[in-house]
Amino acid sequence: VTALIAATGQVLQSWSPQAPDQLVAEQASHTPAEVEEAVALGRVAQRSWWGRGAAGRAAALTGAAQAIRARADEATNLVVREVGKPVGEARGEVGRAVSILDYYAQAAFAAVGSQYPPSLGGLLYTERRPHGVAGLITPWNFPLAIPLWKAAPALIAGNAVVLKPSPDALACARLLDEMLTPFLPEGLFQVVYGGSETGSAVVAQADVISFTGSSGVGQRVAVQGAERGIPVQCEMGGQNAAIVLEGAAPESTAAAIAGAAMGYAGQKCTATRRVVVVGNNPGFVDALVEAVRRLAPGDPAEAATVVGPLINERAYGTVQAALAAARAGGGRMLAGGGVPDRAGWFVEPALVDGLASHDRLCREETFGPFATLLHAADVAQAVWLANAVPYGLVTSVHGPDVSEILSAVAGLDTGMIKVNAPTTGVDFYAPFGGEKGSSYGGREQGMAALDFFASTRTVTIAPHPA
Ligand code: NAD
Repeated sequence: VTALIAATGQVLQSWSPQAPDQLVAEQASHTPAEVEEAVALGRVAQRSWWGRGAAGRAAALTGAAQAIRARADEATNLVVREVGKPVGEARGEVGRAVSILDYYAQAAFAAVGSQYPPSLGGLLYTERRPHGVAGLITPWNFPLAIPLWKAAPALIAGNAVVLKPSPDALACARLLDEMLTPFLPEGLFQVVYGGSETGSAVVAQADVISFTGSSGVGQRVAVQGAERGIPVQCEMGGQNAAIVLEGAAPESTAAAIAGAAMGYAGQKCTATRRVVVVGNNPGFVDALVEAVRRLAPGDPAEAATVVGPLINERAYGTVQAALAAARAGGGRMLAGGGVPDRAGWFVEPALVDGLASHDRLCREETFGPFATLLHAADVAQAVWLANAVPYGLVTSVHGPDVSEILSAVAGLDTGMIKVNAPTTGVDFYAPFGGEKGSSYGGREQGMAALDFFASTRTVTIAPHPA
């Protein structure tokens, strides 16, 4: 079998998570030699693209945004079918994809450098220059938005793109390819399909790497890129806390946290994984249990569904193992933990109390609808608990007292903090990223992404001596 795969190339398949007997897409994997060819082709295309100027690059992205707008329903349905994202969120992701392209199309006209007082007379200025070919490696959970929030700034900064999408989101990547390439010179945007071998080949060939995915893989990507001396950016996992201060409104806070923990079956890097309750908040825990119980898993194609299936059998196994470990470790299931009687990789959202804060389940990411409850005597202890993990992506703080909120914000060590707002949800025009094991390299999104996908050079132009 191995010899056959080596001779014919591996065939990737993506299956619908809510109907695991339905094949959504099939695609031959790209070999490392094919990745090398793609990068070489990208290098040629990049030169003509850079020569187009800002207005030419902006027009291309505006055209691509219009193409997605025109196929929004098709794209929404495909996201629902291929990755099991609830339809309301899938529609939101398609809308965001359009906004990202429109935003970066306009960002083409932003300043590309600064001017300084010259010590020799003449001119002293900086200018942003593209790296060449950007290698983008993406996960399956935001199959349109994540590739685009990397590709759009990479392209506008003047680079070519080679995208390596997740094998679980093949059809979404193909649709993206179809919608973008008509507006771009041949070879400027290419998709290479495959798993770790293909991804690693991209890191071995491209001039700059932007990765999003799990921390284990991201660490390998960072090391491989650093060995080559190229810029690398990795956005990875999270073990995000929601801190509930005394006086937080029980019902609305519980609803926001339950949605952030369990929406899309907890398969967001920004999902709330730990709920830290400070002091006495009678009613909050009860309201949270109720809010989680209300989020029964359902068909992601139905408008009312908030929790769909897990992506695949492996993810289902990981969540089942976490539930078993929680029970074995003395955890009490306050809600969920069962398996609904329906086809597909569904599990009931689980809220677990009674685990120690240093328990592996409180420190490591379980990428599913699984959250733990922790208790703190005061704000300082809540902040300590929130920080006591190897990750640092996002924390939410809920409560009415401004002094307590400011003290929590000052003590937290995450890259993003949300006050009286869920950990989930991203404003694509503001810098995005974490600390510690959650992120490596420069920030994504907003204008920060343009800095990452370009190199700044400093030019001195002195007057010719008389
Ligand atoms: P994953 O790490 O399994 O895969 C991510 C990508 O890396 C895929 O395209 C995969 O094929 C590729 N890959 C695998 N091995 C590789 C290697 N050795 N070299 C290069 N590429 C390789 O992640 P996933 O399961 O697709 O996504 C879920 C994870 O992504 C979660 O941990 C989640 O927290 C994280 N995530 C993070 C963010 C963020 O912005 N911080 C956003 C979304 C998802």
